Amino acid sequence: MAYDVVVIGSGPGGYVCAIKAAQLGLKVAVVEKNATFGGTCLNIGCIPSKALLHASEMLAEAQHSFDALGVEVGTPKMNLKKMMAHKDATVAANVNGVSFLFKKNKIESFQGIGKVLGAGKVGVTGADGKTQEIETKNIVIATGSDVAGIPGVNVEFDEKVIISSTGGLSLEKVPAHLVVVGGGVIGLELGSVWARLGAKVTVVEYLDTILGGMDGDVAKQFQRMLAKQGFEFKLGSKVTGVAKAKKGATVTFEPVKGGDTETIEADVVLVATGRRPYTDGLGLKEAGVEMDERGRVKTDGHLRTNVAGIYAIGDVVFGPMLAHKAEDEGVAVAEIIAGQAGHVNYDVIPGVVYTSPEVASVGKTEDELKKAGVAYKVGKFPFTANGRARAMLHTDGFVKVLADKDSDRVLGVHIVGFGAGEMIHEAAVLMEFGGSSEDLGRTCHAHPTMSEAVKEAALATFFKPIHM
Ligand SMILES: Cc1cc2nc3c(=O)[nH]c(=O)nc-3n(C[C@H](O)[C@H](O)[C@H](O)COP(=O)(O)OP(=O)(O)OC[C@H]3O[C@@H](n4cnc5c(N)ncnc54)[C@H](O)[C@@H]3O)c2cc1C
Repeated sequence: MAYDVVVIGSGPGGYVCAIKAAQLGLKVAVVEKNATFGGTCLNIGCIPSKALLHASEMLAEAQHSFDALGVEVGTPKMNLKKMMAHKDATVAANVNGVSFLFKKNKIESFQGIGKVLGAGKVGVTGADGKTQEIETKNIVIATGSDVAGIPGVNVEFDEKVIISSTGGLSLEKVPAHLVVVGGGVIGLELGSVWARLGAKVTVVEYLDTILGGMDGDVAKQFQRMLAKQGFEFKLGSKVTGVAKAKKGATVTFEPVKGGDTETIEADVVLVATGRRPYTDGLGLKEAGVEMDERGRVKTDGHLRTNVAGIYAIGDVVFGPMLAHKAEDEGVAVAEIIAGQAGHVNYDVIPGVVYTSPEVASVGKTEDELKKAGVAYKVGKFPFTANGRARAMLHTDGFVKVLADKDSDRVLGVHIVGFGAGEMIHEAAVLMEFGGSSEDLGRTCHAHPTMSEAVKEAALATFFKPIHM
């Protein structure tokens, strides 16, 4: 039986695409090689990491803030087994939710490794080694990404002592010393989990800053906050070796600018140097689908590959490797296939680091505006001057609004602070509608809320904040 759409991969890109296509009346099938749906995000990414981040944050709150708030609970204790059980239950609820939605939307599924046999044909090889062929009018490649190692360094992951993010979600005990290679989002999030649970965390990062690509101001202040939480940073350091030792492992690195090699010992090494697009065994070369120099599937502005009827979305294509970007592309492709005008606005994709405090940003950074020669103005407001932040003892951080100097159109918003990941969306909505900092500054915000700091930063952009 021929389908309208066969989606290969059931991560947030693939499963959302399948649901949207089915909602639009198309006959849809999904091919997934894993035992559960939901891809990296639901199984070994966004969802399990947030379960552990939340649980460990609650422990840290109980340990460090309750007393000041006048709440006495005795000595809070970690129960790692229970924490992991909470994480596993959260994952199960989410992946089962996708199964339920597939059934509800009459989406058929094939378990096995999908291969593109050419336009209109997908092969699925099951665990028994047998391959069946499915015919379809359209194919959507949504095969996501996999852990990348360290360029030029042989890293042998055992997921116990030398671990990727996947191992970092399931350690059986808290390492005394965790060395994190890579000061990006995943390394800092998982580093935060284990630091709160008692590990000493050292981050070794190639660049001179953590969170490369984020606003420089934000990254600098955020690094200070993490240092206060006990993180140690070795920036501008190139890792040249990660090796298992008698007890634990060692990480060897040298200054990027040249200098002496250093070796540190770790109980566990988390390699969090990024992810690579995953197209292994997909048969794209044979099918004539073009890839770019970084191994991503090449697509045009409508997420079409060079082969008619084959589309690609999510981590396997150009753009930030984020679940919501994959989801939006999934929706857009479903709409395009159904003959509608699907579109993704890549200028307004928020990015959040779910640490404590959170870091969230949308739009351009100051560095990007400077590089592009755009004349801009800056408005900043600290949470120390926000009443709700004081009441909750969450005064770390600030909001920064960047607006075009002439038109006042908001070009970027960057927030470090408690709840930043929720607050960023008012900026995203504003930017989708081409709003100005005056629009934001004149919008009535409920009091007392952390979001008032967003309004004040906007006021600071075109005139003056009230509470400073
Ligand atoms: C620890 C961690 C935390 C993260 N936290 C966040 C976060 O908080 N927010 C955020 O936005 N992003 C986060 N991410 C990134 C996010 O998980 C990815 O951007 C997102 O999952 C990409 O979705 P996708 O659909 O493109 O691919 P994936 O989620 O990777 O899914 C691809 C699916 O395709 C399947 N597949 C691959 N090849 C085949 C084949 N040949 N046949 C059949 N099936 C195949 C895979 O098994 C997988 O299920 C995190 C990632 C990690 C690792």
